[in-house]
Amino acid sequence: MKKCRICEGRNLHKFLSLGRQPHCNRFLREQDLALDEPAYPLDLYFCDDCALVQLGYVVPPEKMFRDYPYVSGTTATLPAHFQRLAQEIVARFDVPRGSLVADIGSNDGTFLRGFQQLGMRVLGFDPAVNIAALANEAGIETVPEFFDRDVSARAAAEKGKAKVITAAGVFYHVPDLPDFVEGVRALLADDGIFVVQAIYLLDMIEKTSFDNVYHEHLCYYSLKPLTVLFNRFNMEVFEVERAPIHGGSIIVYVRQGISRGRKESVEALLAEEARRGLYSLETYQEFACRVAGVREKLVSLLRDLRAQGKGIAAYGAPAKGNTMLNYCRIGPDVLRYAAEKNPLKQGLYTPGMHIPVIAEEKAREDPPDYYLVLPWNFLDEFLEKEREFRERGGRFIVPIPEPHIV
Ligand SMILES: [Zn+2]
Repeated sequence: MKKCRICEGRNLHKFLSLGRQPHCNRFLREQDLALDEPAYPLDLYFCDDCALVQLGYVVPPEKMFRDYPYVSGTTATLPAHFQRLAQEIVARFDVPRGSLVADIGSNDGTFLRGFQQLGMRVLGFDPAVNIAALANEAGIETVPEFFDRDVSARAAAEKGKAKVITAAGVFYHVPDLPDFVEGVRALLADDGIFVVQAIYLLDMIEKTSFDNVYHEHLCYYSLKPLTVLFNRFNMEVFEVERAPIHGGSIIVYVRQGISRGRKESVEALLAEEARRGLYSLETYQEFACRVAGVREKLVSLLRDLRAQGKGIAAYGAPAKGNTMLNYCRIGPDVLRYAAEKNPLKQGLYTPGMHIPVIAEEKAREDPPDYYLVLPWNFLDEFLEKEREFRERGGRFIVPIPEPHIV
């Protein structure tokens, strides 16, 4: 890797290596376990010029997104979050009924459904053919393509310009940011709003949530590099807010043209980022030390429990869980299975560590003493849902920010 993905600078510093890992969403069938499993370097770099944190190695997107097992609708927290956000956007920017709202990386249409209920015309873009088909069946029109300049121009010609374009949880996937932003510009009305939601680097650093790092996430955003990116394309970040979703995210509001005035929220967050050291390499080197500490503590905690004869299983089999398991080398000798709600993953094995993924209902028939909760960002929801397990003495091991038992 030679150039920064946003500013094209060459002052990149590697500060964290999570080893070679298979693609975190490439779950395996039993008959594939004996086959060679491709693995790729998972290393993070910091750009000294624009402060973007990014992966050094890019797995070709065709290998990652065409058959995608993640469905936004599987937890209760996400639909509620997106419905609230849709209402807020429509109210705050006075979006007239009947306006076109486009969502890039629209998954099963969870976000767009909120806009549709508010009387908007909606259009999704998602390259995962299987998931786009689900959305289309459910009445959310979805283009099964990678979003780029061409796909966007075609949509604009067919549907007109969009008043609102959203990109939640996709912006860090984009291999060619300039092409993507040009695509947004082609589809966005002159007075339209582009809303980006991304996992926030400051939260990731403070919580030591290194499990957000996987091959699909090419970039890890603080606000500053986003302002640099959009300025390059004559667009402006004019407002920003933080949200608790996914363990800490930012929602960034962008519009066409520059110097129509940034809101105080933008200046305030930039100042806070500088104060918290997000623009300096040492902050990231310290983060890397804490990551190694999490591994050490988690592995010894699990080893002690196993030595006491306790049964342990994984709760959930999310992408981020595979970063954790593969980095810590936690396999089926420690975790009997991963209990998972998403039927697309059930019956398969986790990439790398090959832990069998079973249905939640099946896990209830044979519960462990301890669950290692991998989607820890939804912990509150799980504590409520697994009340019975906990009342019978079952416990959750939460790996982040420091391994602990609840
Ligand atoms: Zn840069």
